[in-house]
Amino acid sequence: MEIDSQNQQLNVTFLPYPTPGHMIPMIYTARIFAKHGVNVTIITTKSNALSFQKSIDKDFNYGYSIRTCLIQFPAAQVNLPDGVENIKDATSVEIMGQISHGIALLQDQIEFVIQDLLPDCIVTDMCYPWTAEFAAKIGVPRIYFYSSSYFSRCASYFIQKHRPHDKLVSNTEKFSIPGFQENIEMMPMQLAEWIRTKTNYSCYFEAMFESEGKSYGSLYNSFHELESDYEKLYKSTIGIKTWSIGPVAMLVNKDDGEKANRGHNEELEKELEWLNWLNSQQDDSVLYVCFGSLARLPRAQLVEIAHGLENSGHNFIWVVRNKEDENENGESFMKGFEHRMKENRKGYILWNWAPQVLILDHPAIGGIVTHCGWNSILESLNSGLPMITWPMFAEQFYNEKLLVDVLKIGISIGVKENKFFMSMSEEATITRDEIANAVKILMESGEMRSRAKRLGDAAKKAIEEGGSSYNNLIKLIDELKLLKKTREVSKKQIT
Ligand code: UDP
Repeated sequence: MEIDSQNQQLNVTFLPYPTPGHMIPMIYTARIFAKHGVNVTIITTKSNALSFQKSIDKDFNYGYSIRTCLIQFPAAQVNLPDGVENIKDATSVEIMGQISHGIALLQDQIEFVIQDLLPDCIVTDMCYPWTAEFAAKIGVPRIYFYSSSYFSRCASYFIQKHRPHDKLVSNTEKFSIPGFQENIEMMPMQLAEWIRTKTNYSCYFEAMFESEGKSYGSLYNSFHELESDYEKLYKSTIGIKTWSIGPVAMLVNKDDGEKANRGHNEELEKELEWLNWLNSQQDDSVLYVCFGSLARLPRAQLVEIAHGLENSGHNFIWVVRNKEDENENGESFMKGFEHRMKENRKGYILWNWAPQVLILDHPAIGGIVTHCGWNSILESLNSGLPMITWPMFAEQFYNEKLLVDVLKIGISIGVKENKFFMSMSEEATITRDEIANAVKILMESGEMRSRAKRLGDAAKKAIEEGGSSYNNLIKLIDELKLLKKTREVSKKQIT
């Protein structure tokens, strides 16, 4: 049966969740789909669109079929000022609750828009569990977008299923992750609270993972060569199709302007003192320190990091959130330190947000201190960098195990407790000596760096034409086209 050409174009709608760690990789994924001839629509709110709209416009002007469809964030309804629409804007648990409530209230608008768009497939973030049933209702496949590793997903699946931590008497006793061939040990304290005990929001996470099983398939920003055993384990346990198509950032992030502005509304200034300084540093000699887009550290911990970095003798760039270093009287600890480091040409503090990919790609960067967010891990890996692992919350402790125990490209700083990023303790848990020692080992370890570089090369190959991630993406698009055709044919047969 003949299908007309307009109907043959695949229409895919993307629904990102508004927090940088979820939004950045989904926007990349959407852009890659468009580059492969798919007609792409991204649904988001106005303030969130500002952080990526320029690259969408650029792609559109280049001839790709991609656009953003804006919906209205219910700011007044949730008592927030205009423009506070992203989890990273939360400065307290209360504001975080208001932002999350506002996001939940978007459901009706999203359903309306999707019904209007009539896509052939929806790719929705893991944090929208209701989209699985909605997709079934309107008869389109839902692809579940998971923004971390297969390793972490498998670990949480088996721990949730077998609850090995329930059998232990103390929170610091070790257990081995069930279902894994390798012996990977963790402590109950390193598990997210919702999995450790029953909390008010455990049901939210349970619904999220349940919706995964009800989806047509899942998309992972990972690549076969990185964690093939866990990709295989995922396929055999979760029982849905999955496509590893990463690292997506590398496919799109070719020019420096794009790397600099990505995920952020403001332009990077042209003449930057810290960049000039970085350009003057030897290859692999500077450490980059960043704890992602959400975490805020207690002031006492910042003091320990500052001393640890200074005592390590290695140069650094460190991203510190605005006001993170102030005490209750608004006095800043960091200003004096910042001044001294600049004077001695030892390092720079970047306030609030750094052009992370641009920095990691710089030849002078030789290692990173990371909170083990999956995007930061992939970005470091792309640049062939070994890591000091400093996990804080969510699935980051699993990612630490992948880096340290499996891939052997990380040194653990030794964090023992998983704490929600809005309820960090006031004390420093890691001392300046521990930090200085870890930095010295990392920056002087040739072996870890060569392993990381090899993985970085494998990442580059995976996304090139003919590479594993490239081929997976083509297979997925072909499968969705076939599904569309089959649906069209059966519709025609009915009418
Ligand atoms: N990021 C950045 N500059 C910053 C902080 C974060 O560009 O100052 C980006 C980082 O490159 C990554 C994302 O924000 O792409 C953070 O995601 P990740 O999964 O690493 O951690 P999360 O922020 O979700 O904890």
